[in-house]
Amino acid sequence: MKTQEELRRDFPLLQRRVYGRQLVYLDNAATTQLPGRVMDAMCGHMRKSNANVHRGAYCLSEESTRLLEQAREKVCGYLGAHGAGEIVFTGGTTDSVNMVARGLEPGLTEGDEIVVSSLEHHSNFVPWQQLAARRGCAFRVVPCPDGEFDMRAFEAVLGETTKVVAVASVSNLTGSVLPIAEITRKAHEKGAVVVVDGAQAVRHRPGDIRESGCDFYCFSAHKMCGCSGIGVLYGKRARMETLSPTAFGGGMVKTVTPHNTTMEELPYRLEAGTPNFIGASALGAAVDYLKETGADEIARIERALTAQLWERLGAVDGVRILGSPEKREGIVSFVVKGVHSYDIAALLDKQGVAVRSGTHCAQVALRELGAQHAVRASVAFYNTEEEIDILCRALEKSIRMLKSYGGGL
Ligand code: PLP
Repeated sequence: MKTQEELRRDFPLLQRRVYGRQLVYLDNAATTQLPGRVMDAMCGHMRKSNANVHRGAYCLSEESTRLLEQAREKVCGYLGAHGAGEIVFTGGTTDSVNMVARGLEPGLTEGDEIVVSSLEHHSNFVPWQQLAARRGCAFRVVPCPDGEFDMRAFEAVLGETTKVVAVASVSNLTGSVLPIAEITRKAHEKGAVVVVDGAQAVRHRPGDIRESGCDFYCFSAHKMCGCSGIGVLYGKRARMETLSPTAFGGGMVKTVTPHNTTMEELPYRLEAGTPNFIGASALGAAVDYLKETGADEIARIERALTAQLWERLGAVDGVRILGSPEKREGIVSFVVKGVHSYDIAALLDKQGVAVRSGTHCAQVALRELGAQHAVRASVAFYNTEEEIDILCRALEKSIRMLKSYGGGL
């Protein structure tokens, strides 16, 4: 097992300094850093095997295709999926959710219901809200008071007309872990399709799909040590078969005549156009890296850091942490009385600490928690206890500075 120092050395960017200080990167919920070997995998693909996939009968194209398909196999193994046909490459979580929403659309009619939780990122909220409006479906939002999914309220809205339930595994605002296995079981009893947004979970909960039995699972590579611009839509084979393609073009067809087009098999039927094969190589390497590091080890480190983050931030004078769910992973958002989150983040930045501020694409959840904006600190397994201390000291200093300037605290 690697020491924390050795783990950190795997990530070149963590050596960076900003404003003359050692960078403390605590915005991992927005994007994680890349291990050097993930970058090497991307560069290696570009340097040695750059060619379009599935098209050429020449060496380079075959190599490029092999790298893409190897990545698909790796993702399949990582998730415990039943075959490469269940893994579709997309542009990211947002793209994956939209693909499912559009793909399920023909099967929905007026009077059907779509259920989401109030904690959803806009990417797993707005596509369903829009779909409901287009098809005349009811759109139900399950409340999550204090960041905890309200199972009773869920049971109350669940009925024979519920056709889709879309929930996050881990909230990007509060870090709440939603009970996706129980949600799936209850939704399946009513015959509803379950879509899980795994963006904040996939790095440390690779067993989500197996344990929950959900029908679709969406995530982005850039939140699991891969690069931006690529993600995955997992779908149970039988469910995937029912999904209408939402994009049409090259790569997803078998035959095209002036009168008719026949579609390819899965997963290609859902991958129109040239896939992001360089991104796929990076994702494959990221999966290798995460597997080698070990999901249990990653979860253990991140849980310990989250507990420390929660405790230390909660002790800072003037700070109110948003939500107190029983299970929380990786993320703590907070407000400072009378101060805009942007001012806090800007002052932290000048002290070398990168955190996120604003609405975090979760306006419904923020409002439910009585806030309009928040500061969010989020850890990954390469962060350290010392970095959390630095954050808290820098935060105390920032609050003192804002107070002395009459920030209204
Ligand atoms: N869902 C959750 C829970 C997220 O945290 C994010 C990104 O922060 C997304 C969806 C959207 O991911 P992407 O922008 O990579 O599509």
